[in-house]
Amino acid sequence: MSKNKQDITLQCKPMSTGIAIGKAFIYRDILTRDISSYNISEKNVTHELRRITKALSSVKRDLYKLSRSVSHSMSSKEGSIFEAQRLMLDDNEFTGLFETEMRNELTNAEQVTKNVFRKYINRFENLENEIIKSKTEDLHDILRKMLRHLLGIDTNILARLPENSIIISRRLLPSDTIILDRNHVKGIIVEEGSIHAHSAIIARSLGIPALVTNEKMLQEIQDRTTVIIDGFSGKAIINPLYSTAGIYRNRQSAIGNELSKKIRSVKGYAKTVSGRTIKLMANANTLQEVQNAEECGCDGIGLFRTEGIYLQHKSLPDEEELYVHLKNALEPAGNIPITVRVLDIGGDKRLPYFQLNNEVSPFLGLRGIRLLLRNPALLKTQINVLLKLHQEFNLRVLLPMVTLPEEVSAVYNMIEGCQKDLKHILKKKNIRLGCMIETPASALAIDEFLQVSDFISIGTNDLIQYVMAASRENPDVADYYEKGIDYILPLIKNIANACKKAGKECSVCGEIVNEEHCLKKFMDCGIDQFSISAFRIPHLKAYIRELK
Ligand code: PEP
Ligand code: MG
Repeated sequence: MSKNKQDITLQCKPMSTGIAIGKAFIYRDILTRDISSYNISEKNVTHELRRITKALSSVKRDLYKLSRSVSHSMSSKEGSIFEAQRLMLDDNEFTGLFETEMRNELTNAEQVTKNVFRKYINRFENLENEIIKSKTEDLHDILRKMLRHLLGIDTNILARLPENSIIISRRLLPSDTIILDRNHVKGIIVEEGSIHAHSAIIARSLGIPALVTNEKMLQEIQDRTTVIIDGFSGKAIINPLYSTAGIYRNRQSAIGNELSKKIRSVKGYAKTVSGRTIKLMANANTLQEVQNAEECGCDGIGLFRTEGIYLQHKSLPDEEELYVHLKNALEPAGNIPITVRVLDIGGDKRLPYFQLNNEVSPFLGLRGIRLLLRNPALLKTQINVLLKLHQEFNLRVLLPMVTLPEEVSAVYNMIEGCQKDLKHILKKKNIRLGCMIETPASALAIDEFLQVSDFISIGTNDLIQYVMAASRENPDVADYYEKGIDYILPLIKNIANACKKAGKECSVCGEIVNEEHCLKKFMDCGIDQFSISAFRIPHLKAYIRELK
Protein backbone atom coordinates (compact mmCIF):
# COMPACT_ATOMS: atom_id res chain seq x y z
CA MET A 1 0.00 0.00 0.00
CA SER A 2 1.85 3.09 -1.15
CA LYS A 3 1.86 6.00 1.24
CA ASN A 4 0.48 8.53 -1.24
CA LYS A 5 -2.07 6.33 -3.01
CA GLN A 6 -5.60 7.57 -2.43
CA ASP A 7 -8.99 5.91 -2.11
CA ILE A 8 -7.60 2.43 -1.47
CA THR A 9 -10.65 0.24 -0.89
CA LEU A 10 -10.40 -3.01 1.07
CA GLN A 11 -13.30 -5.41 1.24
CA CYS A 12 -13.64 -6.62 4.83
CA LYS A 13 -16.38 -8.29 6.90
CA PRO A 14 -18.69 -6.00 8.85
CA MET A 15 -18.77 -6.61 12.62
CA SER A 16 -20.78 -3.55 13.59
CA THR A 17 -22.78 -1.30 11.27
CA GLY A 18 -22.50 2.46 10.74
CA ILE A 19 -20.16 4.88 9.02
CA ALA A 20 -17.00 6.18 10.66
CA ILE A 21 -14.45 8.66 9.39
CA GLY A 22 -11.31 9.10 11.43
CA LYS A 23 -7.55 8.74 11.73
CA ALA A 24 -5.79 5.39 12.03
CA PHE A 25 -4.51 4.54 15.49
CA ILE A 26 -2.24 1.52 15.17
CA TYR A 27 -2.39 -0.60 18.30
CA ARG A 28 0.10 -3.39 18.91
CA ASP A 29 0.53 -5.71 21.88
CA ILE A 30 3.80 -4.72 23.49
CA LEU A 31 5.24 -8.20 22.88
CA THR A 32 4.74 -7.91 19.13
CA ARG A 33 6.07 -4.38 18.80
CA ASP A 34 9.48 -3.67 17.36
CA ILE A 35 11.44 -2.57 20.35
CA SER A 36 14.61 -0.74 19.54
CA SER A 37 17.79 -2.69 19.94
CA TYR A 38 21.14 -0.92 20.01
CA ASN A 39 24.68 -1.68 21.06
CA ILE A 40 26.13 -0.09 24.14
CA SER A 41 29.69 0.46 25.25
CA GLU A 42 31.24 -1.16 28.35
CA LYS A 43 30.97 2.09 30.22
CA ASN A 44 27.16 2.18 29.74
CA VAL A 45 26.60 -1.28 31.20
CA THR A 46 26.13 0.05 34.75
CA HIS A 47 23.53 2.57 33.58
CA GLU A 48 21.55 0.00 31.58
CA LEU A 49 21.74 -2.52 34.44
CA ARG A 50 20.40 0.13 36.79
CA ARG A 51 17.40 0.60 34.49
CA ILE A 52 16.70 -3.12 34.67
CA THR A 53 17.04 -3.14 38.47
CA LYS A 54 14.59 -0.25 38.69
CA ALA A 55 12.07 -1.98 36.41
CA LEU A 56 12.45 -5.20 38.44
CA SER A 57 11.67 -3.35 41.68
CA SER A 58 8.62 -1.63 40.17
CA VAL A 59 7.24 -4.90 38.81
CA LYS A 60 7.87 -6.61 42.17
CA ARG A 61 6.04 -3.81 43.94
CA ASP A 62 3.06 -4.16 41.54
CA LEU A 63 3.00 -7.93 42.03
CA TYR A 64 3.15 -7.57 45.79
CA LYS A 65 0.13 -5.23 45.77
CA LEU A 66 -1.71 -7.55 43.43
CA SER A 67 -1.01 -10.62 45.53
CA ARG A 68 -2.22 -8.85 48.69
CA SER A 69 -5.45 -7.56 47.19
CA VAL A 70 -6.26 -10.91 45.53
CA SER A 71 -5.52 -12.87 48.75
CA HIS A 72 -7.73 -10.49 50.65
CA SER A 73 -10.72 -10.51 48.32
CA MET A 74 -10.47 -14.12 47.14
CA SER A 75 -8.20 -16.64 48.76
CA SER A 76 -4.56 -17.03 49.55
CA LYS A 77 -4.37 -19.68 46.81
CA GLU A 78 -5.06 -17.13 44.04
CA GLY A 79 -2.89 -14.52 45.72
CA SER A 80 -0.01 -16.97 45.86
CA ILE A 81 0.17 -17.04 42.05
CA PHE A 82 1.34 -13.43 41.99
CA GLU A 83 3.51 -14.03 45.01
CA ALA A 84 5.23 -16.83 43.07
CA GLN A 85 5.79 -14.43 40.14
CA ARG A 86 7.26 -11.90 42.55
CA LEU A 87 9.54 -14.48 44.16
CA MET A 88 10.86 -15.44 40.77
CA LEU A 89 12.07 -11.86 40.34
CA ASP A 90 13.75 -12.15 43.73
CA ASP A 91 15.72 -15.21 42.71
CA ASN A 92 19.37 -14.17 42.40
CA GLU A 93 20.08 -16.93 39.91
CA PHE A 94 17.39 -15.53 37.59
CA THR A 95 18.23 -11.86 38.03
CA GLY A 96 21.91 -12.66 37.57
CA LEU A 97 21.09 -13.70 34.00
CA PHE A 98 20.42 -10.06 33.06
CA GLU A 99 23.95 -9.00 33.94
CA THR A 100 25.52 -11.97 32.19
CA GLU A 101 23.44 -11.32 29.03
CA MET A 102 24.26 -7.63 29.05
CA ARG A 103 28.01 -8.13 29.48
CA ASN A 104 28.07 -10.81 26.76
CA GLU A 105 25.92 -8.97 24.21
CA LEU A 106 26.54 -5.30 25.09
CA THR A 107 23.03 -4.33 24.10
CA ASN A 108 20.33 -2.09 25.64
CA ALA A 109 18.17 -2.96 28.68
CA GLU A 110 14.96 -3.68 26.69
CA GLN A 111 16.73 -6.11 24.37
CA VAL A 112 18.52 -7.85 27.24
CA THR A 113 15.22 -8.25 29.08
CA LYS A 114 13.56 -9.73 26.01
CA ASN A 115 16.49 -12.12 25.41
CA VAL A 116 16.58 -13.37 29.01
CA PHE A 117 12.84 -14.03 29.10
CA ARG A 118 12.78 -15.59 25.61
CA LYS A 119 15.50 -18.06 26.61
CA TYR A 120 13.63 -18.97 29.76
CA ILE A 121 10.32 -19.28 27.91
CA ASN A 122 11.92 -21.51 25.25
CA ARG A 123 13.31 -23.78 27.94
CA PHE A 124 9.85 -24.11 29.54
CA GLU A 125 8.12 -24.68 26.22
CA ASN A 126 10.40 -27.57 25.37
CA LEU A 127 9.63 -29.46 28.58
CA GLU A 128 7.34 -32.49 28.65
CA ASN A 129 5.71 -31.45 31.92
CA GLU A 130 2.40 -29.73 31.04
CA ILE A 131 2.15 -27.88 34.35
CA ILE A 132 5.56 -26.27 33.98
CA LYS A 133 4.83 -25.58 30.31
CA SER A 134 1.71 -23.68 31.30
CA LYS A 135 3.88 -21.29 33.32
CA THR A 136 5.08 -19.65 30.10
CA GLU A 137 1.96 -17.43 30.16
CA ASP A 138 3.15 -16.11 33.54
CA LEU A 139 6.52 -15.34 32.02
CA HIS A 140 4.94 -13.50 29.09
CA ASP A 141 2.95 -11.49 31.59
CA ILE A 142 6.02 -10.52 33.64
CA LEU A 143 7.89 -9.67 30.43
CA ARG A 144 5.04 -7.34 29.35
CA LYS A 145 5.19 -5.60 32.74
CA MET A 146 8.99 -5.26 32.59
CA LEU A 147 8.92 -3.79 29.08
CA ARG A 148 6.20 -1.32 30.03
CA HIS A 149 8.26 -0.08 32.95
CA LEU A 150 11.43 0.13 30.88
CA LEU A 151 9.72 2.02 28.08
CA GLY A 152 7.64 4.16 30.43
CA ILE A 153 4.52 3.08 28.54
CA ASP A 154 1.14 3.80 30.03
CA THR A 155 -0.64 0.47 30.42
CA ASN A 156 -3.89 2.01 29.36
CA ILE A 157 -2.85 3.44 26.05
CA LEU A 158 -6.34 2.63 24.74
CA ALA A 159 -7.90 4.58 27.59
CA ARG A 160 -6.53 7.88 26.27
CA LEU A 161 -6.82 7.96 22.50
CA PRO A 162 -6.25 10.94 20.23
CA GLU A 163 -9.46 12.48 18.88
CA ASN A 164 -11.30 10.70 16.06
CA SER A 165 -9.35 7.45 16.30
CA ILE A 166 -10.01 4.40 14.18
CA ILE A 167 -8.23 1.61 16.02
CA ILE A 168 -6.38 -0.82 13.79
CA SER A 169 -5.12 -3.89 15.59
CA ARG A 170 -4.36 -7.57 15.08
CA ARG A 171 -7.05 -8.37 17.63
CA LEU A 172 -8.69 -6.73 20.58
CA LEU A 173 -9.18 -8.64 23.78
CA PRO A 174 -12.23 -8.00 25.95
CA SER A 175 -9.87 -6.35 28.45
CA ASP A 176 -8.72 -3.96 25.69
CA THR A 177 -12.19 -3.03 24.52
CA ILE A 178 -13.52 -2.33 27.97
CA ILE A 179 -11.01 0.41 28.71
CA LEU A 180 -11.44 2.07 25.31
CA ASP A 181 -11.63 5.83 25.40
CA ARG A 182 -15.25 6.01 24.30
CA ASN A 183 -15.18 9.71 23.56
CA HIS A 184 -12.49 9.43 20.96
CA VAL A 185 -12.86 6.00 19.36
CA LYS A 186 -14.78 6.27 16.10
CA GLY A 187 -14.28 2.81 14.64
CA ILE A 188 -12.39 -0.47 14.90
CA ILE A 189 -10.67 -2.67 12.33
CA VAL A 190 -9.14 -5.96 13.47
CA GLU A 191 -7.22 -8.62 11.58
CA GLU A 192 -8.55 -11.42 13.75
CA GLY A 193 -12.08 -11.66 15.02
CA SER A 194 -15.61 -12.38 13.96
CA ILE A 195 -19.05 -10.87 14.26
CA HIS A 196 -19.65 -12.91 17.41
CA ALA A 197 -16.38 -12.06 19.17
CA HIS A 198 -16.60 -10.01 22.33
CA SER A 199 -14.83 -7.07 20.71
CA ALA A 200 -17.57 -7.01 18.07
CA ILE A 201 -20.26 -7.13 20.73
CA ILE A 202 -18.72 -4.20 22.53
CA ALA A 203 -18.37 -2.20 19.30
CA ARG A 204 -22.05 -2.78 18.57
CA SER A 205 -23.13 -1.84 22.05
CA LEU A 206 -21.20 1.42 21.72
CA GLY A 207 -22.68 2.02 18.27
CA ILE A 208 -19.18 2.08 16.77
CA PRO A 209 -18.69 0.71 13.25
CA ALA A 210 -16.24 -2.19 13.14
CA LEU A 211 -14.71 -4.47 10.51
CA VAL A 212 -12.59 -7.58 10.40
CA THR A 213 -10.10 -7.76 7.54
CA ASN A 214 -7.98 -10.49 5.96
CA GLU A 215 -5.33 -8.00 4.93
CA LYS A 216 -2.24 -7.39 7.00
CA MET A 217 -3.26 -3.77 7.53
CA LEU A 218 -1.06 -3.17 10.53
CA GLN A 219 2.09 -3.34 8.45
CA GLU A 220 0.65 -1.28 5.63
CA ILE A 221 -1.11 1.68 7.20
CA GLN A 222 0.67 4.65 8.67
CA ASP A 223 -0.50 6.01 12.00
CA ARG A 224 -2.98 8.93 11.60
CA THR A 225 -3.83 8.15 7.95
CA THR A 226 -7.48 9.02 7.24
CA VAL A 227 -9.69 5.92 7.17
CA ILE A 228 -13.38 5.48 6.38
CA ILE A 229 -15.28 2.48 7.69
CA ASP A 230 -18.48 1.50 5.95
CA GLY A 231 -19.90 -0.97 8.44
CA PHE A 232 -22.84 -1.73 6.12
CA SER A 233 -20.98 -2.92 3.04
CA GLY A 234 -17.81 -3.96 4.91
CA LYS A 235 -15.55 -1.54 3.04
CA ALA A 236 -12.52 0.19 4.52
CA ILE A 237 -11.31 3.15 2.48
CA ILE A 238 -7.78 4.24 3.23
CA ASN A 239 -6.61 7.77 2.48
CA PRO A 240 -9.90 8.76 0.77
CA LEU A 241 -10.22 11.48 -1.83
CA TYR A 242 -11.89 14.65 -0.63
CA SER A 243 -14.94 13.82 -2.76
CA THR A 244 -15.23 10.27 -1.31
CA ALA A 245 -15.04 11.59 2.25
CA GLY A 246 -17.79 14.10 1.34
CA ILE A 247 -20.12 11.32 0.13
CA TYR A 248 -19.62 9.39 3.38
CA ARG A 249 -20.10 12.51 5.52
CA ASN A 250 -23.47 13.04 3.86
CA ARG A 251 -24.43 9.42 4.49
CA GLN A 252 -23.36 9.76 8.11
CA SER A 253 -25.60 12.75 8.72
CA ALA A 254 -28.56 11.14 6.90
CA ILE A 255 -28.22 8.07 9.16
CA GLY A 256 -28.00 10.33 12.23
CA ASN A 257 -31.18 12.18 11.26
CA GLU A 258 -33.09 8.96 10.62
CA LEU A 259 -31.99 7.54 14.00
CA SER A 260 -33.03 10.61 15.95
CA LYS A 261 -36.45 10.51 14.22
CA LYS A 262 -36.89 6.86 15.27
CA ILE A 263 -35.65 7.52 18.82
CA ARG A 264 -38.28 10.24 19.27
CA SER A 265 -41.06 7.73 18.47
CA VAL A 266 -39.65 4.77 20.35
CA LYS A 267 -41.11 4.87 23.89
CA GLY A 268 -43.46 2.07 24.91
CA TYR A 269 -43.57 -1.62 23.99
CA ALA A 270 -43.54 -2.49 20.32
CA LYS A 271 -46.76 -4.14 19.14
CA THR A 272 -47.25 -5.95 15.87
CA VAL A 273 -50.19 -4.97 13.64
CA SER A 274 -52.17 -7.91 15.07
CA GLY A 275 -51.50 -6.69 18.63
CA ARG A 276 -48.74 -9.04 19.88
CA THR A 277 -46.52 -7.23 22.41
CA ILE A 278 -42.76 -7.66 22.12
CA LYS A 279 -40.39 -6.41 24.83
CA LEU A 280 -37.05 -5.06 23.62
CA MET A 281 -34.50 -4.71 26.38
CA ALA A 282 -30.85 -3.70 26.07
CA ASN A 283 -27.53 -5.41 26.70
CA ALA A 284 -25.10 -3.17 28.58
CA ASN A 285 -21.68 -3.29 30.22
CA THR A 286 -21.13 0.20 31.58
CA LEU A 287 -22.81 3.35 32.90
CA GLN A 288 -22.55 4.92 29.44
CA GLU A 289 -24.31 1.97 27.85
CA VAL A 290 -27.09 2.02 30.44
CA GLN A 291 -27.54 5.70 29.58
CA ASN A 292 -27.59 4.89 25.85
CA ALA A 293 -30.13 2.14 26.48
CA GLU A 294 -32.38 4.51 28.35
CA GLU A 295 -32.16 7.11 25.57
CA CYS A 296 -32.90 4.48 22.92
CA GLY A 297 -36.20 3.62 24.61
CA CYS A 298 -35.35 0.16 25.99
CA ASP A 299 -37.99 -1.77 27.94
CA GLY A 300 -35.38 -2.82 30.50
CA ILE A 301 -31.75 -3.88 30.78
CA GLY A 302 -32.05 -7.53 29.76
CA LEU A 303 -28.39 -8.36 30.28
CA PHE A 304 -25.96 -6.30 32.31
CA ARG A 305 -22.56 -7.98 31.89
CA THR A 306 -20.46 -7.40 35.03
CA GLU A 307 -17.13 -8.20 33.34
CA GLY A 308 -16.80 -4.54 32.34
CA ILE A 309 -16.96 -3.40 35.94
CA TYR A 310 -14.27 -5.90 36.95
CA LEU A 311 -12.07 -4.93 34.03
CA GLN A 312 -12.16 -1.29 35.06
CA HIS A 313 -10.45 -2.21 38.34
CA LYS A 314 -6.72 -2.82 38.69
CA SER A 315 -7.30 -5.62 41.19
CA LEU A 316 -10.32 -7.57 42.39
CA PRO A 317 -12.88 -5.10 43.75
CA ASP A 318 -13.99 -5.73 47.32
CA GLU A 319 -17.67 -5.70 48.31
CA GLU A 320 -17.81 -1.97 48.94
CA GLU A 321 -16.04 -1.07 45.68
CA LEU A 322 -18.23 -3.40 43.66
CA TYR A 323 -21.37 -2.01 45.27
CA VAL A 324 -20.42 1.60 44.55
CA HIS A 325 -19.33 0.93 40.99
CA LEU A 326 -22.33 -1.21 40.06
CA LYS A 327 -24.81 1.16 41.68
CA ASN A 328 -23.30 4.03 39.78
CA ALA A 329 -23.53 2.13 36.47
CA LEU A 330 -27.16 1.11 37.03
CA GLU A 331 -28.37 4.50 38.25
CA PRO A 332 -29.58 5.81 34.83
CA ALA A 333 -31.88 2.77 34.57
CA GLY A 334 -34.01 4.13 37.44
CA ASN A 335 -36.93 1.84 38.04
CA ILE A 336 -36.93 -0.20 34.84
CA PRO A 337 -36.28 -3.98 35.15
CA ILE A 338 -32.58 -4.87 35.22
CA THR A 339 -31.05 -8.31 34.86
CA VAL A 340 -27.51 -8.41 36.21
CA ARG A 341 -25.36 -11.35 35.22
CA VAL A 342 -22.71 -12.48 37.70
CA LEU A 343 -19.13 -12.51 36.45
CA ASP A 344 -18.64 -14.61 33.32
CA ILE A 345 -14.91 -15.15 32.93
CA GLY A 346 -13.02 -18.05 31.40
CA GLY A 347 -13.04 -18.85 27.68
CA ASP A 348 -11.57 -15.78 26.01
CA LYS A 349 -12.61 -13.46 28.84
CA ARG A 350 -9.82 -12.89 31.33
CA LEU A 351 -9.09 -10.41 34.07
CA PRO A 352 -5.48 -9.19 34.08
CA TYR A 353 -5.24 -9.69 37.85
CA PHE A 354 -7.02 -13.02 38.12
CA GLN A 355 -4.90 -15.94 37.08
CA LEU A 356 -6.78 -18.66 35.21
CA ASN A 357 -5.28 -22.05 34.58
CA ASN A 358 -3.98 -22.46 31.06
CA GLU A 359 -6.60 -24.91 29.97
CA VAL A 360 -6.26 -26.88 26.76
CA SER A 361 -9.81 -25.89 25.67
CA PRO A 362 -10.79 -22.86 27.75
CA PHE A 363 -14.26 -22.57 26.15
CA LEU A 364 -14.95 -26.09 27.41
CA GLY A 365 -13.32 -25.54 30.76
CA LEU A 366 -13.89 -23.52 33.90
CA ARG A 367 -16.11 -20.73 32.57
CA GLY A 368 -18.94 -18.69 34.06
CA ILE A 369 -20.73 -20.36 36.93
CA ARG A 370 -18.30 -23.30 36.96
CA LEU A 371 -15.45 -20.97 37.84
CA LEU A 372 -17.51 -19.04 40.40
CA LEU A 373 -18.55 -22.18 42.23
CA ARG A 374 -14.87 -23.12 42.46
CA ASN A 375 -14.19 -19.67 43.91
CA PRO A 376 -17.09 -19.20 46.33
CA ALA A 377 -15.64 -16.02 47.87
CA LEU A 378 -15.74 -14.34 44.46
CA LEU A 379 -19.40 -15.32 44.00
CA LYS A 380 -20.40 -14.43 47.54
CA THR A 381 -19.11 -10.88 47.16
CA GLN A 382 -21.33 -10.43 44.11
CA ILE A 383 -24.39 -11.97 45.76
CA ASN A 384 -24.07 -9.69 48.78
CA VAL A 385 -23.78 -6.67 46.51
CA LEU A 386 -26.75 -7.72 44.37
CA LEU A 387 -28.90 -8.37 47.44
CA LYS A 388 -28.16 -4.84 48.61
CA LEU A 389 -28.82 -3.32 45.18
CA HIS A 390 -32.08 -5.26 45.01
CA GLN A 391 -33.34 -2.93 47.75
CA GLU A 392 -32.91 0.06 45.44
CA PHE A 393 -33.47 -1.30 41.94
CA ASN A 394 -35.93 -3.54 40.12
CA LEU A 395 -33.22 -6.15 39.81
CA ARG A 396 -32.83 -9.87 39.18
CA VAL A 397 -29.76 -12.12 38.97
CA LEU A 398 -28.59 -14.19 36.02
CA LEU A 399 -26.11 -17.11 36.03
CA PRO A 400 -23.87 -17.63 32.99
CA MET A 401 -22.91 -20.92 31.37
CA VAL A 402 -24.98 -23.31 33.48
CA THR A 403 -24.86 -26.96 32.50
CA LEU A 404 -26.40 -28.75 35.47
CA PRO A 405 -29.45 -27.84 37.58
CA GLU A 406 -27.42 -28.44 40.75
CA GLU A 407 -25.27 -25.44 39.87
CA VAL A 408 -28.36 -23.24 40.15
CA SER A 409 -29.40 -24.92 43.41
CA ALA A 410 -25.92 -24.31 44.85
CA VAL A 411 -26.29 -20.59 44.12
CA TYR A 412 -29.77 -20.58 45.68
CA ASN A 413 -28.28 -22.02 48.87
CA MET A 414 -25.60 -19.39 48.85
CA ILE A 415 -28.19 -16.64 48.40
CA GLU A 416 -30.13 -17.98 51.37
CA GLY A 417 -26.99 -17.94 53.50
CA CYS A 418 -26.14 -14.38 52.42
CA GLN A 419 -29.72 -13.26 53.11
CA LYS A 420 -29.45 -14.59 56.65
CA ASP A 421 -26.15 -12.79 57.21
CA LEU A 422 -27.62 -9.52 55.90
CA LYS A 423 -31.07 -9.86 57.40
CA HIS A 424 -30.70 -6.69 59.48
CA ILE A 425 -30.40 -4.54 56.35
CA LEU A 426 -32.56 -6.37 53.79
CA LYS A 427 -36.16 -5.27 53.68
CA LYS A 428 -36.94 -6.68 50.25
CA LYS A 429 -36.33 -10.46 50.05
CA ASN A 430 -36.78 -13.04 47.32
CA ILE A 431 -34.44 -11.84 44.65
CA ARG A 432 -35.27 -13.61 41.41
CA LEU A 433 -32.62 -15.98 40.04
CA GLY A 434 -32.43 -17.02 36.41
CA CYS A 435 -30.08 -19.00 34.26
CA MET A 436 -28.63 -18.48 30.85
CA ILE A 437 -29.33 -21.30 28.49
CA GLU A 438 -26.19 -21.41 26.41
CA THR A 439 -25.07 -25.02 26.59
CA PRO A 440 -26.82 -27.84 24.69
CA ALA A 441 -27.27 -29.72 28.01
CA SER A 442 -29.26 -26.92 29.63
CA ALA A 443 -31.31 -26.39 26.46
CA LEU A 444 -32.20 -30.07 26.29
CA ALA A 445 -33.00 -30.35 30.00
CA ILE A 446 -35.01 -27.10 30.15
CA ASP A 447 -37.79 -28.61 32.29
CA GLU A 448 -35.32 -29.47 35.04
CA PHE A 449 -33.87 -25.94 34.93
CA LEU A 450 -37.32 -24.41 35.14
CA GLN A 451 -37.84 -26.21 38.45
CA VAL A 452 -34.90 -24.38 40.00
CA SER A 453 -35.02 -21.01 38.19
CA ASP A 454 -37.35 -18.01 38.26
CA PHE A 455 -36.68 -17.01 34.65
CA ILE A 456 -34.71 -18.01 31.59
CA SER A 457 -32.44 -16.08 29.26
CA ILE A 458 -31.17 -17.79 26.12
CA GLY A 459 -27.61 -16.80 25.14
CA THR A 460 -27.42 -17.61 21.47
CA ASN A 461 -23.81 -16.41 21.06
CA ASP A 462 -22.61 -19.38 23.04
CA LEU A 463 -25.47 -21.77 22.36
CA ILE A 464 -24.68 -21.64 18.64
CA GLN A 465 -20.97 -22.21 19.16
CA TYR A 466 -21.57 -25.23 21.37
CA VAL A 467 -24.33 -26.72 19.16
CA MET A 468 -22.31 -26.23 15.96
CA ALA A 469 -18.94 -27.12 17.55
CA ALA A 470 -17.65 -23.93 15.89
CA SER A 471 -15.89 -21.29 17.96
CA ARG A 472 -17.49 -17.84 17.91
CA GLU A 473 -14.00 -16.31 17.74
CA ASN A 474 -12.60 -18.30 14.85
CA PRO A 475 -13.13 -16.82 11.35
CA ASP A 476 -12.13 -20.17 9.76
CA VAL A 477 -15.34 -21.77 11.01
CA ALA A 478 -17.55 -18.70 10.65
CA ASP A 479 -19.57 -20.46 7.90
CA TYR A 480 -20.55 -23.19 10.33
CA TYR A 481 -21.39 -20.66 13.02
CA GLU A 482 -23.49 -18.57 10.64
CA LYS A 483 -25.62 -21.58 9.69
CA GLY A 484 -26.20 -22.25 13.40
CA ILE A 485 -29.42 -20.27 13.77
CA ASP A 486 -31.49 -22.80 11.86
CA TYR A 487 -30.06 -25.65 13.92
CA ILE A 488 -30.95 -24.07 17.25
CA LEU A 489 -34.51 -23.07 16.30
CA PRO A 490 -36.09 -26.40 17.39
CA LEU A 491 -34.37 -25.96 20.78
CA ILE A 492 -35.67 -22.38 21.05
CA LYS A 493 -39.21 -23.47 20.25
CA ASN A 494 -39.03 -26.17 22.90
CA ILE A 495 -37.66 -23.73 25.51
CA ALA A 496 -40.31 -21.10 24.70
CA ASN A 497 -43.09 -23.72 25.09
CA ALA A 498 -41.65 -25.09 28.33
CA CYS A 499 -41.39 -21.56 29.81
CA LYS A 500 -44.96 -20.72 28.80
CA LYS A 501 -46.19 -23.95 30.43
CA ALA A 502 -44.27 -23.17 33.60
CA GLY A 503 -45.46 -19.54 33.58
CA LYS A 504 -41.87 -18.22 33.59
CA GLU A 505 -40.36 -15.41 31.57
CA CYS A 506 -37.99 -16.25 28.75
CA SER A 507 -35.88 -13.86 26.68
CA VAL A 508 -33.16 -14.20 24.04
CA CYS A 509 -30.07 -12.07 24.51
CA GLY A 510 -27.56 -13.12 21.83
CA GLU A 511 -26.19 -10.75 19.21
CA ILE A 512 -27.91 -12.53 16.36
CA VAL A 513 -31.21 -10.91 17.38
CA ASN A 514 -29.87 -7.54 16.22
CA GLU A 515 -30.73 -8.73 12.70
CA GLU A 516 -34.37 -8.24 11.74
CA HIS A 517 -34.80 -11.59 9.98
CA CYS A 518 -33.32 -13.46 12.98
CA LEU A 519 -35.56 -11.64 15.43
CA LYS A 520 -38.52 -12.69 13.28
CA LYS A 521 -37.40 -16.34 13.35
CA PHE A 522 -37.29 -16.27 17.18
CA MET A 523 -40.67 -14.55 17.34
CA ASP A 524 -42.03 -17.36 15.18
CA CYS A 525 -40.73 -19.81 17.80
CA GLY A 526 -42.83 -18.06 20.45
CA ILE A 527 -40.26 -15.71 22.04
CA ASP A 528 -41.71 -12.33 23.13
CA GLN A 529 -38.74 -10.76 24.94
CA PHE A 530 -35.31 -9.88 23.63
CA SER A 531 -32.20 -8.13 24.86
CA ILE A 532 -30.11 -6.47 22.15
CA SER A 533 -27.63 -3.65 21.44
CA ALA A 534 -29.19 -0.36 22.56
CA PHE A 535 -28.66 1.34 19.20
CA ARG A 536 -30.71 -1.32 17.41
CA ILE A 537 -33.79 -0.81 19.60
CA PRO A 538 -35.31 2.10 17.64
CA HIS A 539 -34.90 0.24 14.31
CA LEU A 540 -36.28 -3.04 15.63
CA LYS A 541 -39.24 -1.41 17.37
CA ALA A 542 -40.12 0.25 14.05
CA TYR A 543 -39.70 -3.11 12.30
CA ILE A 544 -41.94 -4.97 14.78
CA ARG A 545 -44.66 -2.33 14.50
CA GLU A 546 -44.95 -3.14 10.80
CA LEU A 547 -45.14 -6.92 11.23
CA LYS A 548 -48.50 -8.63 10.75
C1 PEP B 1 -24.42 -15.31 24.84
O1 PEP B 1 -23.63 -16.24 24.96
O2 PEP B 1 -25.33 -15.29 23.97
C2 PEP B 1 -24.34 -14.14 25.71
C3 PEP B 1 -25.23 -13.18 25.67
O3 PEP B 1 -23.27 -14.06 26.56
P1 PEP B 1 -21.79 -13.56 26.16
O4 PEP B 1 -21.85 -13.05 24.75
O5 PEP B 1 -21.41 -12.54 27.15
O6 PEP B 1 -21.00 -14.82 26.29
MG1 MG C 1 -22.44 -16.38 26.74
